[in-house]
Amino acid sequence: MTAWSEESDSLHGAWRVQLRMSRVLYQQKSGHQDIVLFENPLYGRVLALDGIVQTTERDEFFYHEMLVHVPVLTHGAVRRALIVGGGDGGALEELLKHAAVEQVTLVEIDASVVEFSKRHLSAICGDAFEDKRLELVIADGVQWVKDCAARFDLILIDSTDPVTSGEVLYTAEFYAACAGILGEGGLLVTQNAVPFTEPESLGAPLAALGESFAATACYRVAVPSFYGGDMVFAMAGQTPEGLRVADLELEARFAAAALATRYYTPAMHQGAFALPPYIAEMIG
Ligand code: SAM
Repeated sequence: MTAWSEESDSLHGAWRVQLRMSRVLYQQKSGHQDIVLFENPLYGRVLALDGIVQTTERDEFFYHEMLVHVPVLTHGAVRRALIVGGGDGGALEELLKHAAVEQVTLVEIDASVVEFSKRHLSAICGDAFEDKRLELVIADGVQWVKDCAARFDLILIDSTDPVTSGEVLYTAEFYAACAGILGEGGLLVTQNAVPFTEPESLGAPLAALGESFAATACYRVAVPSFYGGDMVFAMAGQTPEGLRVADLELEARFAAAALATRYYTPAMHQGAFALPPYIAEMIG
């Protein structure tokens, strides 16, 4: 009897997505969320938290390459980076492709997400969790950032959507704490979900970002398993100039980084900042 996952309607009251579950590899209610890992004929292994698809083997690179390489190549000299969330290891794996990155701290609230990602999602995280540049911390990102004395060149907020336990990572207070631990020229990127189906995940968090950062810019990527069209990332920094890089300079940085990518290119990077009016209006 074929089982079907059911995307929680907590994200979209108007429609639901069902994915065929050819095999359930892992199912557990952790102290923080419902965790299901299953195999699907189209997406391969799929991770769902509280019924919401987080990442899949087949399309994870769309999301992780744009989350990581856009800010790293915009900044141009990232040495120390912080990932809040990201327990599947996909963003970590992309970040560690940059040889110039000296240390990455990953703060994930749910140890079990890391444990089974290492065991079952090697197609996404590879051996990134074994890299000696990694400092893995199991903690609530809000409290950890509040207590943090270190300084970072880049902060990536790779969290669950603002309708789940991750909502604490979309507040002005949290963004202010993040701004406080960014060094000179530091950048922050957060995932702002899919505006067409979750408009509330864009306007308010962006306004909250704007309270602590002088400059913000949004860029988009359409991730097949995130239904509803383009999803948006918000990049924040201390100056508008610090959020963009000229074409030739970007080409040179990409060539020097010698990255193997399947979605990211310098042209995709620059093009991703071109927003359709319906999204631009939401940003105001
Ligand atoms: N790419 C996914 C998306 O866009 O929906 C996010 C993937 S990642 C698995 C999200 C992670 O954020 C989860 O493992 C979850 O446990 C973690 N998380 C949620 N709230 C957190 C918090 N307050 N501090 C640290 N990690 C948190």
